[in-house]
Amino acid sequence: MRPTDDSYRHKGLRKKLTDGIRAKGITDEKVLEAINKIPRHFFLDSAFDEKAYEDIAFPIGEGQTISQPYTVAYQTQLLELKPFLKVLEIGTGSAYQAVVLAELGAQIYTIERQKKLFEANKKFDFLKDYRTIKFFYGDGYEGLPTYGPFDRVLVTAAAPNIPEKLIQQLKPGGMMVIPVGAGDVQQMMRLTKLPNGSLKEEVFENFSFVPMLGGKKD
Ligand code: SAH
Repeated sequence: MRPTDDSYRHKGLRKKLTDGIRAKGITDEKVLEAINKIPRHFFLDSAFDEKAYEDIAFPIGEGQTISQPYTVAYQTQLLELKPFLKVLEIGTGSAYQAVVLAELGAQIYTIERQKKLFEANKKFDFLKDYRTIKFFYGDGYEGLPTYGPFDRVLVTAAAPNIPEKLIQQLKPGGMMVIPVGAGDVQQMMRLTKLPNGSLKEEVFENFSFVPMLGGKKD
């Protein structure tokens, strides 16, 4: 069962989590505000209420995880979001990251390859307030060509290499944030599509994500 009550205790724990993430180096106040606002415990079974406000990744079923809050904040900060930007997210998972993006005013198109996780989000009432998030069941390697091009692409699973179709769906001047690497550890990369179509590559810290897999799963 999902919890629906956001108590003062939860708000206090969330403030502590937000302060911890700030202390780890996140400086974008809008990102920190979103972390401080969103009841992360709603995204986990009520049995794991206490875990929701530790800065850790946590299993959400189907062998998948809700990303660590610091990682969510880190990727979001790198995206340099502004209201109304069109964002493609690969790997909806718990939908926590999608809600953080929506809180920053972006229009979100998010894809999940696992049907069970996609279906669970359809039944998650809290998400109904977020009309700017559109949910898709599909293979993120394909992107969403009919909805693109996008101002931003965010990949929240470990990509063995940079998916070409996602680069194609990026607007000139757009950015993609993606953890790249085939092993246990990936490098966070930010690729900016320059007006002449060439790519600027920047490399940031190392992270550990679940793998980005091809095809859909029933
Ligand atoms: N953004 C999520 C993180 C979930 S973990 C959150 O905030 O909770 C990564 C997710 O990516 C998993 O749910 C996994 O099933 C999904 N995934 C992996 N490969 C994918 C692909 N090719 N297309 C779409 N989703 C994919």
